[in-house]
Amino acid sequence: MTVARILAEKGGSVVTMAPNRTIDEAIHLLAEKRIGALVVGDAQGHVIGILSERDVMRALATEGAAALDRPVSHYMTEKVVTCTRRTTIEDVMETMTNGRFRHLPVVEEGHLVGVVSIGDVVARRIAAVEAEHQAMRDYITMA
Ligand code: AMP
Repeated sequence: MTVARILAEKGGSVVTMAPNRTIDEAIHLLAEKRIGALVVGDAQGHVIGILSERDVMRALATEGAAALDRPVSHYMTEKVVTCTRRTTIEDVMETMTNGRFRHLPVVEEGHLVGVVSIGDVVARRIAAVEAEHQAMRDYITMA
């Protein structure tokens, strides 16, 4: 299974934010959308960073409430690892495990076309494993 299948099911909309918006605005958007990360984009729509709840936590732990008025660009991760629609779920899981993060923007020809989270991947992986088990059970019962 590939990322294309996940996006076909969940859609390709991505919550993004400009780098000059504040951490206070970011946490409100994260809470409102019930998500764990925002993709930071420039005016041309290119991915220039990612800000997750972990970055917000780190900012608050080190700088306290003063961090709330500072720009997202100050705390985001700039080197964003991305995937494409053709990336397999297995590769997504490996990338997330090795990179120790839970979000992967999907980029094609420089354009952001979606985002996959660890929740999306785990849900599909469990469904696939259950389907395999059912097929095995059916096969054994038939024999
Ligand atoms: P997460 O587990 O996704 O909440 O993120 C943990 C840390 O990894 C945070 O510092 C994020 O900014 C960073 N991060 C999340 N996703 C990515 C990604 N696709 N590429 C690079 N860094 C990321």
